[in-house]
This record gives sequence, structure tokens and C-alpha cells, in this order.
Amino acid sequence: MPKKPTTTGLNLGENDPYMQLLNDHRLYDNDMVWMEYAKCKGRTDITFFPEPGESHLMVNAKKFCNDCPVRERCLRWAISNQIPYGVWGGQSANERKKVLPNNIKGVTINL
Ligand code: SF4
Repeated sequence: MPKKPTTTGLNLGENDPYMQLLNDHRLYDNDMVWMEYAKCKGRTDITFFPEPGESHLMVNAKKFCNDCPVRERCLRWAISNQIPYGVWGGQSANERKKVLPNNIKGVTINL
């Protein structure tokens, strides 16, 4: 299981926690061009990987995602790649698991 990132916001640099996560994780959907247009790119004031008990941070991240221009693509990407942590596309890992059963891998879902 990939290591959970500890900081927030896409910055796509070599120390980007998202990219560290992805380096450790097999990707079925390798297209990450959409990340350039992410509302969260470079943002460090939103926590997308809240710890258990930090439900207020989860709610805050979901609200932040609502008007992101790549929200649907982000969600589809996270589901296709079975990213086990964090808020992606406005949904938690538990919400994403309901869409894609654990025994189905490498399937791109058209949302
Ligand atoms: S939907 Fe949320 S997590 Fe995904 S790119 Fe947009 S702001 Fe970031």
C-alpha cells in the first residue's frame, strides 16, 4: 500500500506528496495532464488527507473540490487507480470504494 502523503495541494514538484504517492502506486490511468488545471495545485491551506477524527477537514476538502474545473476527471482518475487515501474529486476513499469493488482493477469508470 502506498505511503500516505503528509502535506496538501498539488504542486507537481519532486517533493509533491501526491507525486510521491503515485511513484509508489501502480497506475492504470497514467494521464495526469488534468492536474495542471487542478484548483488545489499549489494550495497548502486545504487538507486533502485528513486523519481519522478530522471529519471537519474532510468536509472542508470536499467543499473545496465542488467547483474545481477538473473535479470529474480527478474523481475518475482516483477511482481507476484505486487511490486508497484522501479526498479526490470531492469524494473520500470510502466513497470511492463503493463505486469500484476491490477485486476489479484497471477499469476506467466513465462518470
Ligand atoms: S477535485 Fe479536488 S482534489 Fe481533485 S484536482 Fe480538484 S481540487 Fe484537487
